[in-house]
Amino acid sequence: MLTSKEMENEQIPHPTQYVYEIQRLKSFNDWPYDVEDCICTSKKMAEAGFFFCGSNKEPDLVQCFVCLKKLDGWEPEDDPWDEHRKHASKCPFVEIGKKQSKLTYPQQYKILKEAAVNMLKYKHNTLKTEADQNLKKSRTFMKKNRK
Ligand SMILES: [Zn+2]
Repeated sequence: MLTSKEMENEQIPHPTQYVYEIQRLKSFNDWPYDVEDCICTSKKMAEAGFFFCGSNKEPDLVQCFVCLKKLDGWEPEDDPWDEHRKHASKCPFVEIGKKQSKLTYPQQYKILKEAAVNMLKYKHNTLKTEADQNLKKSRTFMKKNRK
């Protein structure tokens, strides 16, 4: 679990930040697999719904903009769609299984809605964890001062 200090530092992307494939593609600055003979290139990653969310410590950490699943440990021959399906089979983006430009309007709408709902749930959980920790601290403080 993250401490509240870590949560402060964690960048929570805005729900609409990575909705477009081009925005996701731009997040891959120094992707280690953008070389010849690699299957999981930044272009394929962005197509399969992933944006880059790593750091120096985690140079190949990506996240899906819809289900928010994080994946790392990529191998050159990994197929981003296959990995997405394997680790998040319930993701609506995977269920539809098409790149953005091939989506119909109802499919686009469904994906955007799911992405927004998941992001709100994520934010809610982050805030709730923080509130619980603060409550615990207050209780400990009150107990100490009662004695
Ligand atoms: Zn997903």
